[in-house]
Amino acid sequence: MTVEDIRTLGSPVMPSRGRQRPLGLTDVVLTGGFWARLQDANAAATLRHCEEWMEKLGWLANFDRVADGTTGPDRPGWSFSDSEVYKLVEAYAWEHGRSGDPAADEAVRRLTARIGRAQDVDGYLNTAFGHADQPPRYSDLEMGHELYCVGHLLQAAVARLRTTGADELVAIAQCAADHVCATFGPDGNQGICGHPEIEVGLAEFGRALGEDRYLEQARLFLDRRGHGTLRDISLGRAYFQDDTPIREASTWRGHAVRALYLTAAAVDVAVERDDPELLAAVERQWTNAVARRTYLTGGMGSRHQDEGFGEDWELPPDRAYCETCAGIASVMVSWRLFLATGDVRYADLMERTFFNVLAASPRADGRAFFYANPLHQRTAGAVADDSEVNPRAEGGVRAAWFDVSCCPTNVARTLAAWHTHVATVGERELTLLQYASAHIEAPGGLAIEVTTAYPDNGHVSVRITRAPSGPVTLRLRVPPWATGAELAEGGRCSTVTPGFAVIDRELVTGETIELTLPMTPRFTWPDHRIDAVRGCVAVERGPLVLCAESLDLPPGATLDDVRVDARVSPSERDGTVTVHAMTDPAPAEPWPYAPASAGTRGLASTELPLIPYHRWAERGPAAMRVWLPVHAEPDLP
Ligand SMILES: [Zn+2]
Repeated sequence: MTVEDIRTLGSPVMPSRGRQRPLGLTDVVLTGGFWARLQDANAAATLRHCEEWMEKLGWLANFDRVADGTTGPDRPGWSFSDSEVYKLVEAYAWEHGRSGDPAADEAVRRLTARIGRAQDVDGYLNTAFGHADQPPRYSDLEMGHELYCVGHLLQAAVARLRTTGADELVAIAQCAADHVCATFGPDGNQGICGHPEIEVGLAEFGRALGEDRYLEQARLFLDRRGHGTLRDISLGRAYFQDDTPIREASTWRGHAVRALYLTAAAVDVAVERDDPELLAAVERQWTNAVARRTYLTGGMGSRHQDEGFGEDWELPPDRAYCETCAGIASVMVSWRLFLATGDVRYADLMERTFFNVLAASPRADGRAFFYANPLHQRTAGAVADDSEVNPRAEGGVRAAWFDVSCCPTNVARTLAAWHTHVATVGERELTLLQYASAHIEAPGGLAIEVTTAYPDNGHVSVRITRAPSGPVTLRLRVPPWATGAELAEGGRCSTVTPGFAVIDRELVTGETIELTLPMTPRFTWPDHRIDAVRGCVAVERGPLVLCAESLDLPPGATLDDVRVDARVSPSERDGTVTVHAMTDPAPAEPWPYAPASAGTRGLASTELPLIPYHRWAERGPAAMRVWLPVHAEPDLP
């Protein structure tokens, strides 16, 4: 079966019930603009780039060595490197479904053949455990990542099932899933994986195949967690969310990607099992963590030592970890919650995270990536050598590949299916969530053409290219910052408030609906309890967080010297946003504390240009900051 034979393809997350339904992979086609450029670079460069690196480093050959019986203690890569191969296969599969590119299909087949040869007869599949001169199977559930890797294999198989139908990869995944159920079922090994992912993989694979036992195994893993099932470690059991059962936890804690992958699975299980208690627990955790443990960019993870969430209000901009994968995992959670509940706040956070975490990671050519996404880089990083593996996650420059290289393949699979987040459908209802130029075909005969240069400007034009007979509800998301947005439709123009602008009537083929979102740059102030940025202000424009780069400072000034005059609103001229700022070069003091404030010295005023955060370090290494210290505040009303 080829893509051309399938009229409607699936998409990555397809719950069997919920307030909103996702569209299929080819129901939305991006036709240009911001996200089309990222998706094109992903298809043209990133996928191949990832495969070349994994071939070069021997991560692909690890599968051949298992097949050939030549495994040994010299295995290259971390124990979880198989998962990068699976994420790449997933990305190729969505890309093939999206574009019909035969080279992407061929890549899936090529990689599947190597993966399949490494599978043991009982379905076990891992290149780091269980073979000659390797630790035994499941001998390190805390850190071994065996089940984590299978979870990513299952997600890759879901992509294949929903684009081409069952094939060899799906058969391999089914054997692996059956092995997991047989080994870790109710009467089997009572363990769980230190890194959640098997749960979300099993849940979706179960949905895609209509196999309830995979969903039941996911539920079992979820409910087994939080009871001290794993060994205690120096970072504590909160690191892998084994400190508190998910139904009882009030917020996200520990390793951010772990916490969020686990939560995504909890939404899946809650929806499929009609479990309002579990869904309410997840919504509570989302509410608390977003209110107190999330960066302005949507980034999550305040600590480097455990790549984890900090305490409430612990959001240091310079030590922000904000792993790209955590941003992607946050989107996975919010997307599932939006489909389940229809609550607009989930789509709002997705947009923030898409533009300010996901889009920040890949370089324009799709061949280098940010792993950590701090909001303040104190010193410019060193130029990265594109032929070298970066041993560190941080460093202030995008790197071609990392020692732990989870982020590039996660970016690849997310961008390949990014357009599936643009819109959802309900009963005679289409909801536009993310703004991008696109053709959209909804069930029931409604087709629209969206044209926009968003986020360069805030004009979104929706032309009805085919209207069904009878009334239809068309909803357009109005972001929370878009006060004063205007909607022009049916010969009327009205102001619409954040939430959804709703058109509920019979549509006419050929008519155009215009939404205008105000894109005037604006100051954003932090809650006073976020100690690390008290006395600072940030600037946002539309969905974009802006930042200052050292490259734009007057000669002799440093970013440490900048103070913003917040009495003067940020301005925009010819596409450049500036703030009125002072540079206050501090003398070298032998002791940086004094009985009284040092006040200011020779202030020099400047119009400081700001750039979108997602573009920082594009012009080469630079110091950067999002939160700018304030010299003068506006009077309180
Ligand atoms: Zn990562």
